[in-house]
Amino acid sequence: MTTPPKEPSSPTEPPTPRFRSEVTVELVKHSASDRDVLWAARVSTAGEQSLDELTKDPERSKGLINFLMRDRHGTPFEHNSMTFFVSAPIFVFREFMRHRVGWSYNEESGRYRELQPVFYVPGPDRKLVQRGRPGKYEFVDGTPEQFKLADEAMRESYQRSYAAYQEMLEAGVAREVARSVLPVGLYSSMYATCNARSLMSFLSLRTKDPRATVPTFPQREIEMVGEQMEGLWAGLMPLTHAAFNANGRVGP
Ligand SMILES: Cc1cc2nc3c(=O)[nH]c(=O)nc-3n(C[C@H](O)[C@H](O)[C@H](O)COP(=O)(O)OP(=O)(O)OC[C@H]3O[C@@H](n4cnc5c(N)ncnc54)[C@H](O)[C@@H]3O)c2cc1C
Repeated sequence: MTTPPKEPSSPTEPPTPRFRSEVTVELVKHSASDRDVLWAARVSTAGEQSLDELTKDPERSKGLINFLMRDRHGTPFEHNSMTFFVSAPIFVFREFMRHRVGWSYNEESGRYRELQPVFYVPGPDRKLVQRGRPGKYEFVDGTPEQFKLADEAMRESYQRSYAAYQEMLEAGVAREVARSVLPVGLYSSMYATCNARSLMSFLSLRTKDPRATVPTFPQREIEMVGEQMEGLWAGLMPLTHAAFNANGRVGP
């Protein structure tokens, strides 16, 4: 008697690895507007009447935000909050969580849940080759051969590590021990909460922009997270975002 072939998607089968090249950022919660900057700044001169001042003169409001940004009066940019849900490879989160001030993080746990096999591979537009010296280098396109090599090597290595992880779990090894074999290209997810001031500090270091007066050389994948966060923030606080750009993208 022959054994029928196993259903590939049967519940006992380990999940099939998936490969992604993009990161995702969702704004899940916010209380953030340019008005939050204005009332906080105007309390200096108008005291408790600062809330009444908000709608008086839009041009003055724009000018005040620009002045605060230019002269680096940072605290009025802290009275707001944005919570993002981010899905990105672990190597992005390692860089991200170096930003300690004005950020709160919660990340999925490899101790309490089985990690899913979703892995990062560079997309066709990812520049693969680094030229120059640290602190002063550029990235250029890889050849088709380099791209093929990177893509195949990563997929093969990821699949091997994930098979080893599964083998250990099936043998009863604890998740927190078995996860040691998983690579930093594995996708993870986190909630990250910040305010406009801490976001600007992050963006000044992790995004490249021709308007920036201080150069930075972020890794492309964290920059992709930063770009999405910036787009969402710009929609909430357009005057603050414009002033950030107009003043060289230096955090106040
Ligand atoms: C392009 C690039 C390359 C990098 N390469 C490396 C690397 O090779 N190795 C590495 O380890 N890291 C590296 N980093 C991370 C970097 O060193 C910082 O940890 C990261 O950018 C966070 O910056 P931050 O400390 O200003 O942010 P936050 O921790 O958010 O701090 C914000 C600000 O608060 C103040 N502050 C915070 N903590 C203190 C403190 N303890 N004392 C005094 N003031 C404080 C400072 O003014 C600081 O700028 C790199 C970062 C970038 C952008």
